[in-house]
Amino acid sequence: MAQLSPRMVALGTARSEIREAFAFAQARAAEVGPEKVDDFSIGNPSVPAPERVGELVKSLTEELDPVLLHGYTPAQGDANVRKALAEDLNARFGTDYDKDCFYLTAGAAGALSCALTAMGCPGDRFITFAPYFPEYKVFAESAGGELVAVPARISDFQPDMEALRSALTPNTKAVLINTPNNPTGVVYSQETIRALADVLTEKSKEYGHPIYLLSDEPYREIAYTDEPLPWVPSYYPNTLVCYSYSKSLSLPGQRIGYVLVPRTVEDFGQVYAAVCGAGRALGYVCAPSLFQFVVAKCGGLTSDISVYRANRDLLLDSLRAMGYTCAQPDGAFYLFPQTPEPDAAAFCERAKKYDLILVSGDSFGCPGHVRVSYCVPTEQIRRALPKFRALAEEYGLGR
Ligand code: PLP
Repeated sequence: MAQLSPRMVALGTARSEIREAFAFAQARAAEVGPEKVDDFSIGNPSVPAPERVGELVKSLTEELDPVLLHGYTPAQGDANVRKALAEDLNARFGTDYDKDCFYLTAGAAGALSCALTAMGCPGDRFITFAPYFPEYKVFAESAGGELVAVPARISDFQPDMEALRSALTPNTKAVLINTPNNPTGVVYSQETIRALADVLTEKSKEYGHPIYLLSDEPYREIAYTDEPLPWVPSYYPNTLVCYSYSKSLSLPGQRIGYVLVPRTVEDFGQVYAAVCGAGRALGYVCAPSLFQFVVAKCGGLTSDISVYRANRDLLLDSLRAMGYTCAQPDGAFYLFPQTPEPDAAAFCERAKKYDLILVSGDSFGCPGHVRVSYCVPTEQIRRALPKFRALAEEYGLGR
């Protein structure tokens, strides 16, 4: 047998717990009927893309030269598309980005892979905060670095600055954050972003090289706060943004997003070139062209996120009333309550007896919690509440 990469064989063989739970839910639905299975495992948007997306696909397909529409674009993305993205952000955040700050990618996963590969040198440390999206580890290690997770502050899931200080070393190349957060739903406050910027500025100075901040923002538009979310690069100039339309426009299968490298990033020219180089090395060639043209015309538009908000309110209020403890989730479409026993996997197994499918916090580097992905029809939440209540009663919660 040919010698293969043991790491790739291992990655391709071991399914993620999320995929495992999703597959289990599908198998159970085939067995006992879909109406009996309440699957809260996966973050696949349940709200359709806005009608405008369909209209744009139709009009672009009818009106644009098919050779252009289906052809390669420049590796960075079509120049007019990048210009439109820059203008949209500038209007919303008072910035002065231009087309040459953007590199279009296949979703946030592509953006993260490009940004991390652009930076990764052997021995580099990438720091993130638990709980975190599990693929960060895969991407960071593929980029030749090591992912170090700062332990969670479970009272509110805001990053803990003292714990960050302990994790920072001169080998730290970047800190990776995600707000609104998967899996907690927590939105990082302005104070958090400011404190993070202060620590990274101080430590960059001390180490004599920049520590980049990678802001992974696929849920940027899915927030339920009264105040607008802080625009991270305005607080820390060495920020790169990884964005995706997978969640905000409900387009995860179309694979479209970008890396934004603001000109305030130290060594901007080199960093942007390295992002382009990473896309080349990874064989990405260019982001899907039809959806480049679509998103260029969708600035500021989102799917109907009021559905997620209603789901959040119903589920959060109900779970808290049953006695579950849950940090305030003001964005994305996840809740991350504590499990009533320390072994979250055992709790998920118990939940399965009710055909209630959840994902343990261990997958996200945070034991003792469970992720409930509420991008589902509201009716499913209503149907599942008695199951959550029965589970709570098994553990004597709320007594
Ligand atoms: N980052 C986070 C925090 C996510 O939750 C996801 C997907 O769920 C991704 C990145 C990848 O998103 P995309 O589908 O745009 O590649």
